[in-house]
Amino acid sequence: MLKALSSSSCSSSDAEEEVRNEKSDSSTASSVPVKILSNEEKNKLSASILKAELLGNMELASELKKRLDASNKLSIASQSPGSKERKKNVGRDEDEDEILMMRDMKGNVRPYPEQKHHAEIDGGRRRKKHKVETHKDGVRVKYFEDDDRHTMKSLYEQEKLRRDWDGDAAMFNKLASKAMQQLDDDEYAIDDELLAKESRKKSDLFIESKQKQRAIIDQKKMAQKIESCQSCFNNTEKHLIVSIGSKVYLSLPRSKSMVDGHCLIVPMQHTCQSNSCDEDVYQEIMAYKKSLVAMFKENDEDIVFMETCKNLPSYPHLTIECIPLPREEGDMAPIYFKKALMECDSEWSQNKKLIEIKNKTIRQSVPTGFPYFHVAFGLDEGYAHVIEDENKFPQYFGREVVGGMLDIDATLWRKPRIEKIEEQIIKVTNFAKRWKPHDFSLPKSK
Ligand SMILES: [Zn+2]
Repeated sequence: MLKALSSSSCSSSDAEEEVRNEKSDSSTASSVPVKILSNEEKNKLSASILKAELLGNMELASELKKRLDASNKLSIASQSPGSKERKKNVGRDEDEDEILMMRDMKGNVRPYPEQKHHAEIDGGRRRKKHKVETHKDGVRVKYFEDDDRHTMKSLYEQEKLRRDWDGDAAMFNKLASKAMQQLDDDEYAIDDELLAKESRKKSDLFIESKQKQRAIIDQKKMAQKIESCQSCFNNTEKHLIVSIGSKVYLSLPRSKSMVDGHCLIVPMQHTCQSNSCDEDVYQEIMAYKKSLVAMFKENDEDIVFMETCKNLPSYPHLTIECIPLPREEGDMAPIYFKKALMECDSEWSQNKKLIEIKNKTIRQSVPTGFPYFHVAFGLDEGYAHVIEDENKFPQYFGREVVGGMLDIDATLWRKPRIEKIEEQIIKVTNFAKRWKPHDFSLPKSK
């Protein structure tokens, strides 16, 4: 297996440098104190292990493996009740040191905003009423005492974060106003202003507490997803990898390939969309695309790159599917995809069904947080489509179009079977031979 891998890539000077750094970090694995690693650190360490193996430095690879295993064991042990690590955290707010993230109404993940409400609001004690200056030099400067409690910025943030709890808040307001109606007229007249103010404050608090609860749930869901994600570099099957860049890797599918040369461009760290990933990740994705176009051109082949980004609340890992096509079919591909995209999804769509990306990239064509499909024809950015009804847009949409063009059996594009490991190694070895001269991560021969 290792032989197949070592013929693939990564005897790069960068890789050697990284491995040297790892080595200088740790003279022996046992001399490094064991700590729980973050997902990013785990992915980095896994990449170093693989690179050390490819460079034939088995001693270092084994040391780094021990470090990774020890960290994983410590991580599991820390979850069990009564463990030292867990006890350390007793009495401390679990989320104290973490930046709480939340998903807004458009699906973007952003830091949870700091709330500035005073505890006294919650306590329900009424402050002594004092006169409010509403005019200055004869000009009205405010209407009510709390006019300046919300700035334009905080109102804008609140609007962005508004989600389904707005319905609950509306219900809360309704109940509050109903309760107010039950007061007799005199009492109502006296307490009118105070009750209205109190109701507004409680409503704000209610929304804030709902937002925080949702942010905590989102954070936990995201952490669980990343921990078990099979595309994150730390968890992925290493024998399928043909090239390791600094942020992105190139691998072959576990399942039966649709055609010879079918491969996947995948970021090492968990990220959901190419239109919202970090710029350096995006640039490396483009570098892989460029090299693949050059590789298939040698065989007089074209290539389509497809990204199906849907089901965002479950935090999918961005994967770009690359399928080579004979030149003739490649020339026809834009026509096939145009027709398929015009007929897909819901009949009455609010967005333009076909976004032609000319002199732009996908990052400038579809706003972040929307589910979308993107197909590029070689280095031509091609078409994008904003998915409106995810139930009517299958994950295999792009593969189905290619399957129709090449008259490929549905079993190969709908839900292809997982290949045996021997079959996987043969296809990786064959692909690696073709790929090697185009691998930009390899040192240039002098
Ligand atoms: Zn992932």
